[in-house]
Amino acid sequence: MRDTALTLPDPLNLVGGRWVAARSGETMEVHGPADGARIARIAASGEADVDDAVAAARAALDGPWGRLTAVERGRLLMRLGERIADAAEELAQIESLDNGKPISQARADMVAAARYFEYYGAAADKVHGETIPFLAGFDVRVLREPYGVTGHIIPWNYPAQMFGRTLAPALAMGNACVLKPAEEACLSTLRIAAMAEEAGFPAGAVNVVTGAGTVAGAALSRHRGVDFMSFTGSPEVGVLIQTEAARNHIGCTLELGGKSPQIVFDDADIERALPVLVGAIVQNGGQTCSAGSRVLVQRGVWDALTAALADRFRTLTAAAGAADGDLGPLISGRQRDRVQGYLDRAGDVPVLARGRVADGAPEGGFYIAPALFGPVDPLSPLGQEEVFGPVLAAIPFDDERDAVRIANATEYGLAAGVWTRDGDRQQRVAKAMRCGQVFINGYGAGGGIELPFGGVRKSGHGREKGFAALHEFSWLKTIVHNHG
Ligand code: ADP
Repeated sequence: MRDTALTLPDPLNLVGGRWVAARSGETMEVHGPADGARIARIAASGEADVDDAVAAARAALDGPWGRLTAVERGRLLMRLGERIADAAEELAQIESLDNGKPISQARADMVAAARYFEYYGAAADKVHGETIPFLAGFDVRVLREPYGVTGHIIPWNYPAQMFGRTLAPALAMGNACVLKPAEEACLSTLRIAAMAEEAGFPAGAVNVVTGAGTVAGAALSRHRGVDFMSFTGSPEVGVLIQTEAARNHIGCTLELGGKSPQIVFDDADIERALPVLVGAIVQNGGQTCSAGSRVLVQRGVWDALTAALADRFRTLTAAAGAADGDLGPLISGRQRDRVQGYLDRAGDVPVLARGRVADGAPEGGFYIAPALFGPVDPLSPLGQEEVFGPVLAAIPFDDERDAVRIANATEYGLAAGVWTRDGDRQQRVAKAMRCGQVFINGYGAGGGIELPFGGVRKSGHGREKGFAALHEFSWLKTIVHNHG
């Protein structure tokens, strides 16, 4: 096991305010992507542990947590946000070690993680119901009620941010949460859960159960005591989550990734676009749901833009998180092999440029050099499938109609970027995009806590972030009073 100056969490779950081992006593290893060495162990939880966590959440709803007012819940959330901000550097070090991301990216993640709790803490007492004018002699009130026990399954790409993104609005609404983070990277979530306890959350409001997706995740997703599920991850597992939710007659939000386009018209400000186009695909090694993995380029600027992109790609360096390169290693050998598979199968699609792996990058790490392909057939795998790696597909287009057609012609629909100086076109194209977020002359929200986020079709459904998430984590109750 590698020496690290950081104190990493013990292999325990947080259940009902207590840190406990899996009932089986089993643990599983966590490996650091920088060199593949074992960095920690986590509890390998099973069905019984999930049962305990769901029961603890239910008890919290019937106990002190369920009796708190909205303003009291808000204060707890804000206190947790402050703790995250105060511990940001240590959390960032843990995240970078565990996930592999460059340390500066991990630092930015912690700012966002804290912001989720600040934002939803401040919002907790501002979710008003409605009154509805109805028949004479009636008063109608519509209340927003928490679901009860909410289940949350999150991926390994932004563990701390995901913790905030999914738990903060659920807690703000008064739900009691059971989180199953990803087995590949979840150490920061355990640390933040401990901070929630220190901040004073009543026992059972926040429960964290670690372990394999196919065991602990599956047990949570099919648990009959869960009232609503929130999932972020692959479309394949999303289908399983939604199937279990259907069997359980509960709702779910799914955020399942994308193949998001950035559309660059002839009149775009190329200098401004360039760093954004590159950043949108190398951020987190391309392991971002909303990665800008397709760049659609109008033919008039094809030569100039692809040449400039290629110049930038050649300078991109994958390095250990601590070395703070343009990108880190990928999360695992499996993920690197998956991305390499796309490169191997690209066949005769021209490679316009490759980045490199830093000379000193440790042996055993899961590094891959970024790749720029073009022209890519929009209907080929590189034009259609989510690679989840630092691979950018450049696709030429003729005119606005062509651009809109290509942009919308994947099964996904999460985010899009539109680069043009023409104001009318900005609006037309933005409105034509079949996706949850559109950026005009920019891309990526940098956290974007305030901005509703989510997809259509294979990108999932439901909305996170902003007030939309508070609505997702609550249901409407209409009370009709016939007072004569
Ligand atoms: P990826 O392929 O990017 O790792 P996954 O969708 O497999 O994405 O994983 C996202 C989250 O879903 C993780 O927390 C993982 O443990 C969990 N998970 C994986 N398989 C299942 C499953 N069968 N049921 C429930 N959760 C699962």
